[in-house]
Amino acid sequence: MNGNTLQTPIVYLKGVGPHRAEILQSELGIQTFQDLLNLFPSRYIDKTHYYKISELQRSNADVQLIGKIVHLKTVAQKRGQRLVAKFIDDSGEMELVWFRGHKWIREHIKVNEPYVIFGRCNWFNGTFSMPHPEMELLKEHEKGLKISMQPVYPSTEKLNNKGITNRVINKWIQQLFLDTKGSFSETLSNDMIHKLKLVSKNEALFNIHFPKNQEALAKAQFRLKFEELFYVQLQLISKKISRRQKIKGHNFNHVGERFNNFYKNHLPFELTEAQKRVIKEIRWDLGSNAQMNRLLQGDVGSGKTIVAVMTMLLAIDNGYQACLMAPTEILANQHYQGISALLEHTGVTCSLLTGSIKKSARKPIHEQLENGELDILVGTHALLEDKVKYQNLGLAIIDEQHRFGVAQRAKLWHKNNIPPHILVMTATPIPRTLAMSLYGDLDISVIDELPPGRKRVRTVHRFDSNRLKVFRFLKEEIKKGRQVYIVYPLIQESEAMDYKDLMDGYESVVREFPMPDYQVSIVHGKMKPSDKDYEMERFVSGETQLMVATTVIEVGVNVPNASVMVIESAERFGLSQLHQLRGRVGRGADQSYCILMTGQKLSSDAKTRLETMVSTSDGFEIAEVDLKLRGPGDLMGTQQSGILNLRIADIVKDNDILKAARFHAMELLREDPNLGSPENLVIRHTYTQLMKHKAQWNYIS
Ligand code: ADP
Ligand code: MG
Repeated sequence: MNGNTLQTPIVYLKGVGPHRAEILQSELGIQTFQDLLNLFPSRYIDKTHYYKISELQRSNADVQLIGKIVHLKTVAQKRGQRLVAKFIDDSGEMELVWFRGHKWIREHIKVNEPYVIFGRCNWFNGTFSMPHPEMELLKEHEKGLKISMQPVYPSTEKLNNKGITNRVINKWIQQLFLDTKGSFSETLSNDMIHKLKLVSKNEALFNIHFPKNQEALAKAQFRLKFEELFYVQLQLISKKISRRQKIKGHNFNHVGERFNNFYKNHLPFELTEAQKRVIKEIRWDLGSNAQMNRLLQGDVGSGKTIVAVMTMLLAIDNGYQACLMAPTEILANQHYQGISALLEHTGVTCSLLTGSIKKSARKPIHEQLENGELDILVGTHALLEDKVKYQNLGLAIIDEQHRFGVAQRAKLWHKNNIPPHILVMTATPIPRTLAMSLYGDLDISVIDELPPGRKRVRTVHRFDSNRLKVFRFLKEEIKKGRQVYIVYPLIQESEAMDYKDLMDGYESVVREFPMPDYQVSIVHGKMKPSDKDYEMERFVSGETQLMVATTVIEVGVNVPNASVMVIESAERFGLSQLHQLRGRVGRGADQSYCILMTGQKLSSDAKTRLETMVSTSDGFEIAEVDLKLRGPGDLMGTQQSGILNLRIADIVKDNDILKAARFHAMELLREDPNLGSPENLVIRHTYTQLMKHKAQWNYIS
């Protein structure tokens, strides 16, 4: 079959027709034969194995067993009755349960005769039970044809309502294999197939839809996952290579007066090894004639700011300007103050531009920017406005990048003929391999070391019932001159309720910590920005000892004297959020504390999150746990990157395959950059085809 036929609209497949074609398109995005072929089962019902009752596990989904019913009884329940059978085999006993159709069961079921049963197993009241099992007498079962692994396709309610059931989809796919004789174009080179001991495309496609057994299925899955990840990586890597070759960058080959002067005379502390390494990586980029696009990952407090400053000095030494963009006014402000302080005696000029800077104050900034008097501009989104024109922007630094989209990055590019070097800083730790796939077009640097002398934040989990003790502890800390954050969750769906929780909490805090001995600040999303800033300012200056807030304080705020972070309803926060919040304390010399408050009742995921927080402060370790708990879908940044459009591979579970795919894609491009060798033509062809069908590639920025 040639490639064309797979492009045939699905409406022409026997049994589909225009109406159902439309539903397939709207529900599953299936337009062509090819799309249907690539609709992979989400799971399989394995009827190749007969379980023993003693082998059952709580995680089992559908299982098949052989045994007999020894006893049937009717049990009264809240509404109506249920029929319960005791089912045994030579390894143990379990229950079969029916909520309807009792009469028929009672009349037709044969007690003490061997049956093969099949269904979903639950763990209930200390025993396994199976509601409404499929049942067949063993002697009938042995005569019948055995279906081995039954594919279950992704479905939706609408599909089911319109009669497009799993059986129907199954039949259509069989039809497709008949029409095409199950013969499809190979999409990987022989060389690669041999090296990796992969099954052929035909075999893989057949076995993914109609596997004979687990082993055949595993081979098919491996081949298809590898292929999928391989082509994603191929695209990401070739894009990066071509950017390096095509897009000229400003060459900052000169390490000059300002950088050296700062390094020798104004560095307030010795750089950590990690900071030195990262600065070296950046310097290498900047002197390479290509445009830098680098992601700088570093846990909260790891010291990204100084790296940013030194990078900006390199730009200035080479005759260029630099800008730093932060997601909020508070953060932009803090950056501005921090950077100005560091550069105080260096002669480097720095200004702040945010939404609340008055028009009259903006004018000179715009002018100095255009005539080159201004070296560094720090600000918020305001930096992206068309009015902001640079004489020669050479470097743009973006802090906390998940708040900025690709479009905004692009906007910075167009501020000049030659795009500026870009350094993106984030405190959201992303496991490295995942980061490489998400931001494959960025190079990655990691600060994986905290500055010396930093005390680990002592983290504990306390139940609400211990609140008085917690308050007593807070009072002791405040007596020592420390400040305290108390944070409440704010989750969009229940905003009104969260708001009430926050206000109730605030009142009880004020009651417990009365004036004039104590001053309490409150900050939340419903306040006017100016009020928010005012309250924030009171806390920053030490006027108030307690800050009651929602997660608005999550990002970047720096109050070194605040040493206690109390997180209310901690079970409702995600791990990365908890980690970010905890990062607000432990910034000064004092021992800091993070207290996670919860009720008694906790889900097992919530327990895992709390235990993780108590046991480690390593952001990358926490990110790994987070990824395992939630999958990549909830990770910051993944939604917009669309990496989830993968059909079969799972970026977390298939991490090893991802690594292999990345490795082989790199090897291939190194040996044959244009994919011109006869051996690799098949890869080039497949790649070109994939690029034509852009929809599959919309995750590439
Ligand atoms: P983040 O990576 O969260 O942006 P910052 O750059 O704000 O971290 O640094 C956190 C704190 O650590 C700052 O007070 C900074 O002055 C200090 N710091 C950074 N690097 C070092 C270092 N090498 N030695 C000592 N203190 C450092
Ligand atoms: Mg920072």
